[in-house]
Amino acid sequence: MSAPGQEAGTVPLPAAPAVASPGEAAPVAAPAGAEDLKKKARQAQTPFRKMRAAVRPHPDFRVIVEEDRCTLCRFCVLQCSWDALGFDGRVVSFDENCVGCWRCVAVCPTYAIRIEQWPTMYRENRNWTRFHAASARRQAASGGKLLTGMGNDKEYLTVFDHLVVDACQVTNPSIDPLREPMELRTHIGSKPDRLDLGAYLEHLGERREGASGNGRAERGATDLRRALGFGPQLRLETPIMIAAMSYGAVSLNVQKACARAVAEVGSYWCTGEGGMHPDHYPLADRTIVQVASGRFAVDADYLKRAAAVEIKIGQGAKPGIGGHLPGEKVTAEIARTRMIPEGSDALSPAPHHDIYSIEDLRQLIFAIKEATRYEKPVFVKIAAVHNVAAIASGIVRAGADAVVLDGFRGSTGAAPTMIRDHVGIPIEIAIAVVDQRLRREGIRNRASLIAAGSIRCSMDVVKAIALGADAVYIGTAALVALGCTLCQQCHRGRCAWGLTTQRPDLVRRVDPEEGGHLVANLIRAWSAEIKETLGLLGINSLESLRGNRERLRAVGLDRETLEILDVKAAGR
Ligand code: SF4
Ligand code: SF4
Repeated sequence: MSAPGQEAGTVPLPAAPAVASPGEAAPVAAPAGAEDLKKKARQAQTPFRKMRAAVRPHPDFRVIVEEDRCTLCRFCVLQCSWDALGFDGRVVSFDENCVGCWRCVAVCPTYAIRIEQWPTMYRENRNWTRFHAASARRQAASGGKLLTGMGNDKEYLTVFDHLVVDACQVTNPSIDPLREPMELRTHIGSKPDRLDLGAYLEHLGERREGASGNGRAERGATDLRRALGFGPQLRLETPIMIAAMSYGAVSLNVQKACARAVAEVGSYWCTGEGGMHPDHYPLADRTIVQVASGRFAVDADYLKRAAAVEIKIGQGAKPGIGGHLPGEKVTAEIARTRMIPEGSDALSPAPHHDIYSIEDLRQLIFAIKEATRYEKPVFVKIAAVHNVAAIASGIVRAGADAVVLDGFRGSTGAAPTMIRDHVGIPIEIAIAVVDQRLRREGIRNRASLIAAGSIRCSMDVVKAIALGADAVYIGTAALVALGCTLCQQCHRGRCAWGLTTQRPDLVRRVDPEEGGHLVANLIRAWSAEIKETLGLLGINSLESLRGNRERLRAVGLDRETLEILDVKAAGR
């Protein structure tokens, strides 16, 4: 999720305002009273209004307040950031504004509110769904592109849900994870083709020599690793990291919660393209910074301060396009963090204007390595697209220490709906083809693979690793732990849960400390489940599962998909 509010990667259509997606009522300034609504209905009697009625937005939800339960405390009215509730002696609803975010339901002490889907108003059929009809009507009204937030919700096959995991029986006993140590530790970064004993002995000799007086005795484990050919690495105590969510796309409090969570569980989080706010400096050694096409915040200190650097070429939710944060969203704090003037548009071009080949990418990778004295791993993040295996191979040969693959279900703060829903490929397929290709080319050890793009539970992590990933990035799951109800309205900047907004009253709804514990709990719970799964597989280390597709079987996948995944059908 790289982009705040309207930071949807878009090439703006001249004079064509972006329009709400279906599921998103047209914004209104303030709740209309009952009188206003009557006035609107009267206006609709004119011929012009009648025509507009053809494209009039229709509520997606109905807010029902049970008056016999309601104590008139008004919590719901105060908490609704969408102007869908008002108070005139009783709680009244303005259904056309409701986005179904569920905040009111969650805060109501007497469970007096419920939200229902509005009954279908379109004459739907299998071809022209409610979504298609509503989209066409809204675009006819506005002449603008459809925008949305969060990830692709279309009914593509979710491959993870068609894979099952093996389990030990009789002759190959399983392991009890409660009584035996299970190793989830993962190292992200380049590993040597083979261990060179000569280099090791030479290093020992140098250390002995150093011990006799020339001051080199304490060069330590880092030097030994280098002597053996290891690149700079990140050490994770669990294979779950938190994906790029930039300051601007999410609030600073969300980022703080993520930083605290990874510090608690021994993992890392990524700043996204919006820079590293000074409040994160104390946990900079747990922070991966991003270098994106807009180069926001990038200078030598930014690179050196971080634990690793991620070059963002693409993201799963909107492959091939850039981003745009409108000037009115560039507050003083965001401007300082991004190192741009306050109130100016923050544009991330679709391409990096200095990268038009793998050689150009290599130059950037090595420029970053030089700037960080070869002490930080450099990741390259790409969207999972049709020829992802060839692209990943080029990236590894260009010197990246890790390749981040972002599948087409990945989330974002804002994206054109059509691009989010129809561009890219599933992460499961991308992991499998990239892992196979790198192994075939004998370069799999040179870089780690990090899978992102809708990792929803611990079993998705297990399956991603069995397909070939070293670790995963989670984004939406972390937001869900902080309250997100997947209402897909992130691009409008009014998130009632205080997540994808910069409005101070809403941002305060996330307490970084408590939020950090919630996200850490989620990661810990998943880690415990992963250990349990390793136990039933009869293996005690995550390393042994990596790319071990033999321990997966497929149910209900066609022959070609099985071939691509290199996974057998159940029963074989
Ligand atoms: S809080 Fe959310 S669910 Fe409740 S009325 Fe407002 S928009 Fe609708
Ligand atoms: S982050 Fe907020 S606005 Fe975005 S989907 Fe979640 S609840 Fe809705």
